[in-house]
Amino acid sequence: MMDLERENHRLQSTVNNLMARIEENQKIQQHYHQFEFELLACTSLAELLEHLLLDARRHFDLAAVSLVLLDRDYSLRDLLRKLDISLFDNHLQLRHNEEFFKSMYPHPERVKLGGLDLMTASRLFPGLAQLGSAACLPLVRQGRFIGGLHFGSVSATRFTPDKAADFVFHLASIVALCLESCVGREHLRQQGQVDMLTQVKNRRSFELDFAKELERAERGDDPLTCMFVDIDHFKRVNDSFGHQAGDLCLKAVAQQVSKQLRKTDLLTRYGGEEFVSILPRCQAPQAEIIAERIRQSVDQMRITTEDRRSIAVTVSVGMSTWQPLGERTPDLGDVGKRLLARADEAMYTAKRDGRNRICTLAFSQS
Ligand code: GH3
Ligand code: MG
Ligand code: MG
Repeated sequence: MMDLERENHRLQSTVNNLMARIEENQKIQQHYHQFEFELLACTSLAELLEHLLLDARRHFDLAAVSLVLLDRDYSLRDLLRKLDISLFDNHLQLRHNEEFFKSMYPHPERVKLGGLDLMTASRLFPGLAQLGSAACLPLVRQGRFIGGLHFGSVSATRFTPDKAADFVFHLASIVALCLESCVGREHLRQQGQVDMLTQVKNRRSFELDFAKELERAERGDDPLTCMFVDIDHFKRVNDSFGHQAGDLCLKAVAQQVSKQLRKTDLLTRYGGEEFVSILPRCQAPQAEIIAERIRQSVDQMRITTEDRRSIAVTVSVGMSTWQPLGERTPDLGDVGKRLLARADEAMYTAKRDGRNRICTLAFSQS
């Protein structure tokens, strides 16, 4: 009788333990699922990276999270720059070949759980003094590495090789999918906003950004300068050297103008051989210095055609500056239109006065 009772007790406690483990596992699974749903709901690359690199730390109670992405053709680097996405104190790293991933993940189909040697730990988690254990998730799409996601914990028992890796593995496949689709979408979005020939903003995206800049200028009571840059006698360039050479000139002028501007200035290809720049927090005298630098640098530039002929071009620049009056403007759209028209007029004045020059016209408030 005693034996039976003891046996019964033992069984009961085994069942209880199992139940507790199942419950615990269910909780963990829910926790992972919730995070995966949030990842899938991210609509931009910035949002996705923030979720992965900042929110994941809190969500999974980790000491650090880092992400290494494969960027063979440097297109991801350029995309991050264009989107103004930071590298999260080097917790986001880009590698330009597969070496890192091959050595880190000899078995791409397996998640690595356990301790890390000091070298690897300091490479993956810069600035983190102590690390007990880590989960290293290879990110693979269609059999090819796209990156690696790394979770670091201070606890040595948090990630150990004997632990089940199913949840983490599932998470890795969701992360890889989200990254691939977000990067692809972001590239497409960029292409939709960028003029393919000159790589500066196209007119459609300019209209949206210009509206935002007008609002910002009004809010901060800051001056806003509008600048038209038009290539002089560009038709003659096409006629003498051909359209392809003309295209080269357009690219070179766009580059030259963009070099003289600040990061916060907008630049758009407004028409065929005409560029418009919006300079926030920029008074007329300061804008004139920038315009003169643009004019001179284009004047000094030489473009070499495929058949080694040299082309020189000049630009005429027109400007006007809006200074908000410290009260709300009833129709900001109208201010924008008039500011553009005034800068355009200034550009035509520069043309009339002989080209290869700059001209400023005062903006009238009404
Ligand atoms: P102005 O000094 O008065 O501005 O004279 P312009 O010849 O520059 O001005 P006009 O407006 O008469 O001619 C602009 C030329 O720009 C005509 C057009 O063929 C050329 N153009 C517009 N877009 C492109 C382009 O994408 N590539 C090339 N190669 N030429 C272009
Ligand atoms: Mg022209
Ligand atoms: Mg023109």
